Amino acid sequence: MTKAFVVGHPIAHSRSPLIHGHWLAAHGIAGTYERIDVAPEAFAEFLKTLREKGFAGGNVTIPHKEAAFARVDELTPRAKTIGAVNTVFFDADGRLWGDNTDAPGFIAHLDQSLGADRLDRTGGTAVVLGAGGAARAIVVGLLERGLTRIQVANRTRARAEALVALDPQRVAALDWADLPTALSGAGLLVNTTSLGMAGHGVLDLDLTPLPASASVADIVYAPLETPLLATARARGLAAVDGLGMLLHQAVPGFERWFGVRPAVTPALRDRIVADLVGPRAGP
Ligand code: NAP
Repeated sequence: MTKAFVVGHPIAHSRSPLIHGHWLAAHGIAGTYERIDVAPEAFAEFLKTLREKGFAGGNVTIPHKEAAFARVDELTPRAKTIGAVNTVFFDADGRLWGDNTDAPGFIAHLDQSLGADRLDRTGGTAVVLGAGGAARAIVVGLLERGLTRIQVANRTRARAEALVALDPQRVAALDWADLPTALSGAGLLVNTTSLGMAGHGVLDLDLTPLPASASVADIVYAPLETPLLATARARGLAAVDGLGMLLHQAVPGFERWFGVRPAVTPALRDRIVADLVGPRAGP
């Protein structure tokens, strides 16, 4: 029986057990995927004892992504670039690897939602709002996807400037006040701030300057339809919600631990949406 986990602190809100439980049932795999709450001071010991507890690997979430980055035996190139780990697994020699699947998860969702060539047709330019951990993964994903110009605006400008080092030719930091000009040339707008999430404040942004061909993505998924996405749809723009990123980032981990590459299907999405709007609704 193969065992996997998601570790965080707190962790009760995580939808990952629902996602992996759905795939285990769909593929008839006799495995388990459990939530584990570990406080920061106990995380190093938790990682050390994974093997003896019989785990094949698992997901790592807030606040442990940087600690996992510092403590695994090996890092994938993408995890190295992003500086954070959200997926761990053992290789045949028993070495613990750290990967980051947020970047390919975001891009896979974008391509699936918009159609694979829409990003190519809209000029390869993106504006990213926010410069936290998720923004770093998304900028890496957009660079890997071949976008030619990525402008990052953040409340704390220094954090946006830190992302420029990922590729100074293609990534630039922007003042929030300069957004109207940047939006007028953008093919894609991505919100990676927590603004728009229930209880986290409102993202006050005029979308009028965006070209009619632009797409708008929000990585907030509680609520699923954020005010930003509602405004984008009202303007006739393509709008992409945050849930697909959560579903797609789970695919590589499941494949590593359980040996089957699962699909992100409408049935899986419906199941998680039902949970998001159900009795324990919330992020
Ligand atoms: P983080 O590292 O804490 O970064 C938070 C970002 O939001 C920073 O850029 C921060 O700006 C900005 N922000 C927060 N409050 C703000 C405010 N009042 N006004 C302006 N900017 C504000 O968090 P994260 O891990 O990047 O996550 C960000 C969001 O993405 C969360 O809502 C999270 O749930 C969501 N997320 C979704 C997925 C998914 O799979 N869909 C994956 C990861 C994260 P400062 O730098 O100025 O503080």
